[in-house]
Amino acid sequence: MLTSVCGVNWGDEGKGKIVDLLSQEYDYVCRYQGGNNAGHTVVNERGKFILNLLPSGILRENVVNVLGPGMVIDLKHLSEEVARLREKGIGITPENLKISDKAVITMPYHVLLDCLEEDRLAEKKFGSTRRGIAPVYADKYMKKAFRMGELFDEDRLFARVKDVVAWKNLTVAGGYGHAPITAEEIEAYFKTYGFPLKDYICDTGALLDGAHRAGKKIMFEAQLGALRDIDFGIYPFTSSSSTIAAYAPIGAGVPHLKLDKSIGVMKAYSTCVGEGPFTAEYFGEKAEKLRAAGNEYGAATGRPRRVGPFDAVASAYGIRCQGADEVVLTKLDVLSLYEEIEVCTAYELGGKLLREFPYPDLLGRCKPFYESVKGWREDISHCRKREELPRAALDYIAYLEEKCACKISYAAVGPERDAIIRLK
Ligand code: GDP
Repeated sequence: MLTSVCGVNWGDEGKGKIVDLLSQEYDYVCRYQGGNNAGHTVVNERGKFILNLLPSGILRENVVNVLGPGMVIDLKHLSEEVARLREKGIGITPENLKISDKAVITMPYHVLLDCLEEDRLAEKKFGSTRRGIAPVYADKYMKKAFRMGELFDEDRLFARVKDVVAWKNLTVAGGYGHAPITAEEIEAYFKTYGFPLKDYICDTGALLDGAHRAGKKIMFEAQLGALRDIDFGIYPFTSSSSTIAAYAPIGAGVPHLKLDKSIGVMKAYSTCVGEGPFTAEYFGEKAEKLRAAGNEYGAATGRPRRVGPFDAVASAYGIRCQGADEVVLTKLDVLSLYEEIEVCTAYELGGKLLREFPYPDLLGRCKPFYESVKGWREDISHCRKREELPRAALDYIAYLEEKCACKISYAAVGPERDAIIRLK
């Protein structure tokens, strides 16, 4: 059984919670793209955890967790994240954590270049998380990146360090006028944070292929959402990786396998971190009210998220990008706030109403067109069964299903593991 869990929107849909919940039925959980540029928040009986690089299955004792070749891994961040979890009593060993030999290493100079470029852009900045993600993916495609498998051959690795440092300084010092980086500091980074990981590194493709043949269940966990996908998202305000389900087998190292199920995680309203068009956006007091109710502050960065009502145009597109067979609707409890709930059902562009998500460059000129549906105005966070939900909440779910042409199979009503309702 091969299942993906991916974001339908801009990220922060609550995928971590859903993977944490569903992973009880899986043997493997694999992250297949991105790096430590986003955070999954998981709340369960063991505490509250923020995971940036580690798959959410790490919190379950019998799950093997995989960091796939599609990922970029900041070694220092990984070592700190592992240490943080160990402090909370989570066991992490080469048995339950496997890192692909083909995964790319995010280097300190990638973080530096990310910051230098954002600073240079000033008010035209992309809103990068400044974690080095765009520079490291750029190096991957320039074929200059370091990969985890290189840690096994120190002589070859350090010879390459010298070449790469000379090349990088053309940009760091020559371009940006920053102090040059040195081979010594790069070698020290590998020695301190890379070499201790050797026991965790393997061919995750062979591992997952073997597991699949043996009938094991594998879950692929995405970071961010469809609208941040490098190809299909709101370019250039996207991430630098493929956030869609179709990429999961590739980014996990098993490109020959086909997913059995794609689960899309969709939020009951909209949030977005960073710059770029966000058509259905609330501002001022209206935004503050929703942000506070939903506690919308970034898990990785602490930045206040931009907020707005549910965007059916963008979400229907996101569901299609994810090829979602079913959808989990999260944070429904937050909408208890409203007497009337607004939903963006079309974009106005040049006097016409658009129902289909347009080419991203047009978004800057689109205005949201809202319809209102009746709210329920009561606390639903204690509900655990479909029958316990108020009629208006069920109607809201049915309305979103119709607007987005999807099947909503679960609704989440709180951050806790059990705060979820099976609908179908
Ligand atoms: P992810 O990156 O998609 O996992 O999402 P984040 O972790 O960035 O954001 C989701 C936040 O919402 C986390 O703080 C979760 O604990 C919380 N959360 C998830 N599902 C629900 C829900 O149904 N209701 C509420 N109120 N909070 C939720």
